[in-house]
This record gives sequence, C-alpha cells and structure tokens, in this order.
Amino acid sequence: MWSGTNSKDLKILNRILVRNIIRRRGPISRSEIAQETGLTPSTVTVITAELLEAGVIKEAGHGESTGGRRPVLLELNPTAAHIFAVKLQRGEATAALFGLTCNLLAERTYHLDTDAPEGVVETIGRSFQELAREADIDPGSVLLCGVACPGLVCSERGIVERSSNLGWLKVPLGEMIRNRLGGISVHVENISNAAALAEKEFGLGKGYSDMVFVNLSVGVSAGILVNGEIYGGVQGYAGEIGHVSFIPKDGPWCACGRRGCFEAVCGARAVLERIKARVPEEEFARYGLSKDLVKLNELIGSPLVDSPEVQRVVDETGRAVGILVANLVNLLNPRIIILGGELSAFGKPLLRAVEEEVKLRSLEEMYNSTSIELSNLRGSGPLMGVYALALEKVFSLEEWDVNVELRV
Ligand SMILES: [Zn+2]
Repeated sequence: MWSGTNSKDLKILNRILVRNIIRRRGPISRSEIAQETGLTPSTVTVITAELLEAGVIKEAGHGESTGGRRPVLLELNPTAAHIFAVKLQRGEATAALFGLTCNLLAERTYHLDTDAPEGVVETIGRSFQELAREADIDPGSVLLCGVACPGLVCSERGIVERSSNLGWLKVPLGEMIRNRLGGISVHVENISNAAALAEKEFGLGKGYSDMVFVNLSVGVSAGILVNGEIYGGVQGYAGEIGHVSFIPKDGPWCACGRRGCFEAVCGARAVLERIKARVPEEEFARYGLSKDLVKLNELIGSPLVDSPEVQRVVDETGRAVGILVANLVNLLNPRIIILGGELSAFGKPLLRAVEEEVKLRSLEEMYNSTSIELSNLRGSGPLMGVYALALEKVFSLEEWDVNVELRV
C-alpha cells in the first residue's frame, strides 16, 4: 500500500487509501485515519464526507476520548457494493453473493446437465438473477464476479486454456460471463489457487507465506504460495500435480490422455470405483445406498464409510497422497500443507495415513518444520478465494459505480 499525499492531483488515490484504511482498521476515527495515512485532518474530513454521502462508509458510534469530545468512528458499509463468486466443477456450479465484509448473503449449488460452456454460462447467469432476488439486492450493485475453475486458467485474459475436468479447450470464460451478466468485470482463477488464497486469508494458512493447498477431488491440483504469492510458473499453470506420473508403466488412463497420472489412480472418481470394486452390492443396500448411483459425499456421510473394506481404501489412498505430499515437502519446504477437496472429507483416518507416509519419505529436517492439515473451509475454499481476490480488485477501483441500471 502506498502512503498518502495531499496533492490535489492524487485525490483519487487518497480516496482509495482512506477507503482501504477504513476497511482494514475500522471502526476508526478521522484523526486516526489522518495519522495512519499521513493526510491532513481537513483532507480526511473532505474524503470521508464524500464516502459517507456515497454510502460506502457509515458511522459506527463513538471512540474513547483523548481529552476533548469523543470521536465519531467510521466503518465500511458492508452492503455498499456486492461481489458475485462462482465455483465450477464437473457437473455443478456453486454461486454466492457477498457483501464487502465477508458477509455471505446467498449461496446455491446448481446441477449442470451440460459441460458445454454456453450452457454453463447460462446457468451462471440464471444463478446471478436468482441469488440477487434471494438476497434482495440491486444487481447493479455487484461490482465484480470472481470465478474459480479447474484446469489451466489464464487469469489475465479470463481464458480456460484446458480443463480435462470440464472437457474444455480455449474457452473465453471471463468474456462469456461478462456478456451474460451485462458487463460486470469477471476474474477467472484456477480453483486450487483460489482455495490456497482462501486458506491464507480465512483458513489454516493465515499468517503463513509458504504454503501448499492440495485439492483432492475428481481432479487433483495444488495452489502453491511462495513468499505470500501464488507461484504460477511461466504461464501461470504451475501446480498440476494430478498429472505427475505415478505409475511408470501401463497405469490407468487419465482424463489428460496419458497413463499413470496421480489423479487417474487417486482422484475422487478412481477412489470411489475402488471402493465399489471391493464392497458388495448388499452392503451398499444395507445402508440405503445404490452401488451404481452413489456419490462419494453420500458414501462418506453414511456409516458404510467405517466398514473395514472402505477404511482399507482410505488408508491406501492416504498413503498414495502421502507420497505426493512428501515430494512437495522435499521440493518446496513449505510451512504448511493443507489438504482439501472431496477426499479430505474422509477426515482423520486419511490424514493419519498421509502423515505416516510423509514421515517415511521426506527429509527429517523438512518434515519436522511442515504441518499437514485438513482444510476447515471444506468446499467453500475456492469460493472464498475468488471472493478475496475480487475484494482486493474492488478496493483498488477508482470509483464504485454502483448506480448503474439493472444490468441483467
Ligand atoms: Zn493426467
């Protein structure tokens, strides 16, 4: 963050600066804002009057007196503007509307009966209208849409270059959603990078600058944080650990077209298939489940998960994940590795197997300084991550143009 100046030419920057100080430090008095920013008290008075007038901030009672009258405190108005966040996965889209202070106003998961980008974007457009109605907000007050998407994502251009999970190649998702939402800016981010950012902002990664988030879902990928920043590599695609070779010869086919990739062996779908191959149909039926139709989350939510056959698969999966995690420890020496995604819902038995294997396979000094944890953000990580990213962008905008007409 830059420091303040009283030059009239930089009035816009000063307004952003004051807005950000109130966001991070509010409730805060005008004199404290002046101290924090280096702006003169009169400049702060003018800017805060404008922000109050625009409804961006509001008064929040009085602070302690430092001799004279008790100062009026100012804080952000959490509903001054809104952010729309979407998490895409094969077969489903979760959409949510947030205010400016992490306040979730409405959230819904939509089943996608098509993988075609046009159909997915249509569902996102519909969800936007439905959630705005549910939250009772003006769609025109939504300043930005953040989208978390699996695969190789070029965030700068909003293009999904390749997603084997969604079966997409070179899809201009950002532009398509922007058009469908009537011109709202859209930021598209890789789903694991978004989840890693969420862990850093809201989860177990808080305060850590070197961290890896591993998304153990149908696809397996990692969001890598080095020195507090996402490590993207040359093209921004780094972290595709689901496609590291795991079986050297004649392994199972992967969605990427190769054989023996980690996610072909240990992705959520492969794990569910392994369980189905070991557990007889009558066992599923005993717990009211259909062997053909059961989904992984249904199985994990059922007592069947505690059966020895299922727990054996959980242990094997944990050991395989442990090999992957040990490689990450040896390669990156992170402070914390957070496991999320569908498979992480297997909980402690999975984590125990992962830890045992990591201990065997990583160098002692690095193992001792790395914690391995299960995410406590559950499935909402990627949504929170794109929300956090969108929030940063919103707070660097010059003006909040929230008075536009209804755009949908
Ligand atoms: Zn692959």
